Amino acid sequence: MDMLLITGIVIGWWLILVVAVGTDAEKRGKTQWWTFATLLFGLFAVILYLIYRDNVEYDTYRCDNCKSIYYSAKGADRHEKISGHVVKIVPKPESEIHGK
Ligand SMILES: [Zn+2]
Repeated sequence: MDMLLITGIVIGWWLILVVAVGTDAEKRGKTQWWTFATLLFGLFAVILYLIYRDNVEYDTYRCDNCKSIYYSAKGADRHEKISGHVVKIVPKPESEIHGK
């Protein structure tokens, strides 16, 4: 009985992860391969997805004055307002553009 309950909870969480990755991948125009990978490998695929997603999807901003790095326009804007520094977008390396 207890084993059945635990198995049910694990499967429940697994399905939640699959749906979460599927929804996020769709929103970002990513391949649904990630949804399939999550279905097969569970949490392991989710961790890989999060790493991959962060590295490729976002633009990078760097402050010319203090060399701070930002991964969102919002964060870069906030830094400009607070410090008066000039934050510039970092051009994407060639390999990332061709990888799309
Ligand atoms: Zn700065």
